[in-house]
Amino acid sequence: MKEKLQSIKEEALKAIESADVPEKLNDVRVRFLGKKGELTAVLKGMKDVAPEDRPKVGQLVNETRAAIEEVMEDTRRKMERAIREEKMKQEVIDVTLPSKKNMVGHRHPNTIALEEVEQIFVGMGYEVVEGPEVEYDLYNFEKLNIPADHPAKDEQDTFYINKDIVLRTQTSPVQARVMEQGKLPIRMIAPGRVFRSDEVDATHSPSFHQVEGLVIDKNISFADLKGTLEVFAKELFGPETKTKFRPHHFPFTEPSAEVDVSCFKCGGKGCRFCKGSGWIEILGCGAVHPHVLEMCGIDPKEYSGFAFGMGLERIALLKYEIDDMRLLYENDIRFLKQF
Ligand SMILES: [Zn+2]
Repeated sequence: MKEKLQSIKEEALKAIESADVPEKLNDVRVRFLGKKGELTAVLKGMKDVAPEDRPKVGQLVNETRAAIEEVMEDTRRKMERAIREEKMKQEVIDVTLPSKKNMVGHRHPNTIALEEVEQIFVGMGYEVVEGPEVEYDLYNFEKLNIPADHPAKDEQDTFYINKDIVLRTQTSPVQARVMEQGKLPIRMIAPGRVFRSDEVDATHSPSFHQVEGLVIDKNISFADLKGTLEVFAKELFGPETKTKFRPHHFPFTEPSAEVDVSCFKCGGKGCRFCKGSGWIEILGCGAVHPHVLEMCGIDPKEYSGFAFGMGLERIALLKYEIDDMRLLYENDIRFLKQF
């Protein structure tokens, strides 16, 4: 009996040694220690053992089982540790590997120019106000002193939704909307997209952007307008920049002017950039027409104001020396990344 147990133990240990995965250890357990296992078979054979020898044999069987189980558990722990270590080795993060770069794109020159313009006016205490791109004819034209038969209405080739609703041709209707609210004084700029049925070329597009400004308060004069725009031009194009006001006509301002700045390329001497004149036109402006104030519910005897408007694309083209407006709309990242 003793020899039999000894040989079972040796065989079991051999089987454990040759097991390379935990599943095989389980097979060994079933084969030797299971209900139908070899060691259990010995216990079942106890009835053939003399009764006085039974405790001794029972103890031997238990010792054998304990010895096999101990080696088996030890092997299982080693196996599991090895598996865990292997897994960790495979999942290790190499922090020295270069990361995958996400393409986050680039801010558009229009956006960069707008942020700069906004910053200048916000610095002077202006509020940035936005309004609808689909607008009533009433706000886009009439409240701005452009009645139905006014030639300016033809000049600004308009996209009509129906006879009362248009795609706004200018950001000025935002001014009318703010004036109508009647909260005075007003100091605002209105940036946004506008639409005109123009053919696309190097300087035109059916959709472009404007930034307009409006100031309404008591005792606002043309001198305030000149001072404000001079500060703006110096901030935008450099401290040496000079401004020049040329008389002009707009329906919503009186008097009106166009503003040139001294060429920031040649300093006013004349170059290819300013077409030899030394000056570059940047915006239109004027004192708000008393009739516009009246139509928006403001008493022109008590209040006065000034307004100005510029094309955002024009500012971007000038500042970044881009010679074709179409480049701004093609969204070619190789172009946009240069700014
Ligand atoms: Zn020049």
